[in-house]
Amino acid sequence: MKPYHIYTYPDPILKKISEPVQRIDAEFRTFIKDLDEIMHQQPGGIGIAAPQVGVLKCVIIIDVSRKIQGKAQLVMINPVITAESDFRIFREGCMSIPDFTANVRRANTIKVEWFDLDMKVNRIETDGLEAVCIQHEVDHLNGILFLDRVSSLKIDVFRRKK
Ligand code: ZN
Repeated sequence: MKPYHIYTYPDPILKKISEPVQRIDAEFRTFIKDLDEIMHQQPGGIGIAAPQVGVLKCVIIIDVSRKIQGKAQLVMINPVITAESDFRIFREGCMSIPDFTANVRRANTIKVEWFDLDMKVNRIETDGLEAVCIQHEVDHLNGILFLDRVSSLKIDVFRRKK
């Protein structure tokens, strides 16, 4: 595995827009394996976006299977959220902002489509933790962090206990 590391706020790479993936080749598949490994190295890691390891490509991995029965890991290439509804406040963390959590307004229910590793189009409607996680990771592809989404840095951001 290449020596990837998680870029953390305020590294400017986290503000950049990722490029759509055009081609799935052996190198890309190896990258996905590495990304998956990095995500699972983080305690409680349920999602990761390529730009968090400095690769500006539109791919995210979501895995809430350890928290919700019946869910499988999703490798989402060029994901697009096509519908959002039922907005609520959720408490979020981020590997790129390790010292803080925050209250963020998110859709509880979304529709999303993406390409899988066979370049087939997938579409689902999902809700709760998985929906929030997808919105958070898609934000990373657009250079958006949860700090950009909180109403008040004073009221809605919390320092993690060490
Ligand atoms: Zn994040």
